[in-house]
Amino acid sequence: MNKKLLGALLSAAAVSLFGGEAPKSLVIMLDGARADSFFDTPTPNLDKLMTEDAWQPGYRGAWSFSVDTVPDAPANSAPNHAAIATGVTAVKNLVTDNGKTAGGNYEDWPHVLSYLAPDHRTAFLYGWGESGQVRAKGNVEYLEVGDSAVAAAAVERIGNGVDAMMVYINAPDAAGHNVGFYPHTATYRNTISGCDAIIGEMLSAVAARPEFKNEDWLIIVTSDHGGYHTGHGMPSAHAEKVPVVVAGRHVKSGELAAPCSVVDVPATMLAHFGLDPAKLGLDGRPLGANVSSAECTASAEPPECQKIAGGKTPFDSGLKIKDIPFTLTMMVRADGEQPGDAPVFSNKDWNDGKNPGIVVAAGTSNGWTGPGYVCNVGCVSGAWRLDVGAFDPLPGEWVFMAVSIAADGECRFYEGRPDGSFHFLSGEAENAAPASGLTVHFGQDGTGSYKFTFNGEIRNIEFYPDRALSSRSVYQIYRKYQEGASSASCSSK
Ligand SMILES: [Zn+2]
Repeated sequence: MNKKLLGALLSAAAVSLFGGEAPKSLVIMLDGARADSFFDTPTPNLDKLMTEDAWQPGYRGAWSFSVDTVPDAPANSAPNHAAIATGVTAVKNLVTDNGKTAGGNYEDWPHVLSYLAPDHRTAFLYGWGESGQVRAKGNVEYLEVGDSAVAAAAVERIGNGVDAMMVYINAPDAAGHNVGFYPHTATYRNTISGCDAIIGEMLSAVAARPEFKNEDWLIIVTSDHGGYHTGHGMPSAHAEKVPVVVAGRHVKSGELAAPCSVVDVPATMLAHFGLDPAKLGLDGRPLGANVSSAECTASAEPPECQKIAGGKTPFDSGLKIKDIPFTLTMMVRADGEQPGDAPVFSNKDWNDGKNPGIVVAAGTSNGWTGPGYVCNVGCVSGAWRLDVGAFDPLPGEWVFMAVSIAADGECRFYEGRPDGSFHFLSGEAENAAPASGLTVHFGQDGTGSYKFTFNGEIRNIEFYPDRALSSRSVYQIYRKYQEGASSASCSSK
């Protein structure tokens, strides 16, 4: 195919790039589903989308558990609903917080289904009235529908031949505000599972279409924000990171390379129909082409690691962290409430969080969440620090804890609790500088003389140099300790 013809095809909305099959898309937004909520909750339908050939032959999925909410507005519903609907963030669409949707700039940035409306059947289903204040141009069907009726409404439209549909579902947000967004609250997890069942109904309707074999479906599931305790909108990875699953015939399988943003969702949808989001002036870029292979299967070989003797803190492990990437995993038990911001482990001079090195500190407060465990990474310039957290395990209980920093600077902080729940938070460390020249102390900082000492016990310490384990691999290590293994998945060096 010559380049001119390819260009013509790219600009023709009605033409699929792939084999003449009719492009179709379904974008589902689960309000308030935090980044790790898809990971730690029974979601069989999402799992199928992420696994090659599991939903339908030829379909496979990519995913990310660290998608950024909009950078220029709080992690609240309206700015992110509007960003997913318009493909641009608050500085353009003017939806800077809840209550601002009616005043948005839809003359310049209409609902993205508007771009498809001339040649396609489109529908926007939403459960929160304010979302419907995003305006479209052209013939885009709007339907305000509650969660109890949304599956039927979506299934009806799929059966009737809708080409591109966006569906916003409220339930996780309501559950989070009631009982907490933490994935260890059963009600929150059950709500995510309930949404998965709704997704399953829609997917069944898609696959049941008589024309399905001649259609090229793109399914995207995402969220608008996460949450912590019973709120969101705070500057915290709990709220500012959301998941995404992108499934289709032309998606590569694996974990999406960071960074990803909620505005990439509409960009991906439009690109599926042959439109170029950049030419439309949109902020997002199509997802699905750039994935890391990531050891994502249960059969992955355990990587090599260095085991470190644990015990009552404080002690100097002698371990030197040389560079990224790396992963450090351990079991931690705190003896009662901790004084100050005592290091669980650290190789840095914790007198200044901007110093090079890394620390997980107990008993700190990020200003929103109260006492908890926070991971801090210093950066090369010494002018900036990354803080990821907080988790708040109870004193006296053994918890699994892990930190990884990937080559691209993504720092992921994990907690696995005695009740079996597992979650993680992530943040991007620009020019992460985990090497400090000091050894890793447990219960103290790298100098061994910080003013606060962590009172507790740390065991089963494993250090994986040269690799940031995938979240699934870290989960497997946690599970093995849960099952009572004295040593988890790694082989000794
Ligand atoms: Zn929301």
